[in-house]
Amino acid sequence: GVGAEIDLSAIVADIAAEMAAAPDRGTPASYIPPLAAVDPGKFGIAVIEADGTCHLAGDAEEAFSIQSISKVFALTLALGHVGDQSWRRVGVEPSGSAFNSIVQLEAEHGIPRNPFINAGAIVVADVLLGRNEPREAIGEILRFVRALAGDDTIVIDRSVAEAEVATGHRNVALASYMRSFGNIEHDVERTLGVYFHQCALAMSCRQLALAGRFLMADGLNPGTGRQVVSALRARRIGALMMMCGHYDGSGEFAFRVGLPGKSGVGGGILAVAPGRASIAVWSPGLNERGNSQLGTLALERLVQRTGWSVFEAD
Ligand code: GLU
Repeated sequence: GVGAEIDLSAIVADIAAEMAAAPDRGTPASYIPPLAAVDPGKFGIAVIEADGTCHLAGDAEEAFSIQSISKVFALTLALGHVGDQSWRRVGVEPSGSAFNSIVQLEAEHGIPRNPFINAGAIVVADVLLGRNEPREAIGEILRFVRALAGDDTIVIDRSVAEAEVATGHRNVALASYMRSFGNIEHDVERTLGVYFHQCALAMSCRQLALAGRFLMADGLNPGTGRQVVSALRARRIGALMMMCGHYDGSGEFAFRVGLPGKSGVGGGILAVAPGRASIAVWSPGLNERGNSQLGTLALERLVQRTGWSVFEAD
């Protein structure tokens, strides 16, 4: 646990109380009805320490749509399937562009900049599809996330997945465009079926922080004692989260929070303080870059009060 001078439970409770009273909550995503319908007053935080001690506050037990946070788990699984071969099909550079940008794909011959923008995540979904049916690949992702969190109650929200299918024209364009370069191997409907369903995973802050534990522990899931990925791979996933985890707002997140993190348009953020904690926050209102307004603020306050940073000198 943390030093005696830090009362983590009190810090987490204080932050939740401050966020409940925050005047500027951002704007929830509106591109699909199920996300637009979520109460913008929600805020949850879960902090799980290296020893398993769990601190929850606010709406930490309420499931929300994890959206792009799923890209971390999908990438982890794909690296397990095809290893470093993955890096022939997707890069490791921050994009500096919006999450759904298509422009860079032309100059870079259908190779997305990183696995956390939509184009990159669609390639990862294509890797996971492999020789399987979409239903099987989706089932594998769900089983993986359940195993990471140690919680078989985690589900995919069908209404969210169906709304994504109905409105995801931009993602169809990205997938088709990459297919024209040979970087998508399946019919785009099949690959996107996998992608849309992974985005529709519904998890609480507690479940998400549990699932992220392997990233704070050099690839070892302290809950199961199993090595999920090698230490090197866990560190590389962390590096990508740091550089690319918040779309074109990744620099600002690193500047304010100083931890690897991945956001989703549902208003969730998974962040990792290596060796110390796995952290999940959720508040549906987004800032102008599509990242949770209060989630970011809460993480900023958490690191100010704990001293956690990947740059800390100890
Ligand atoms: N699932 C949505 C999409 O692909 C958004 C994912 C996100 O950025 O959180 O358009």
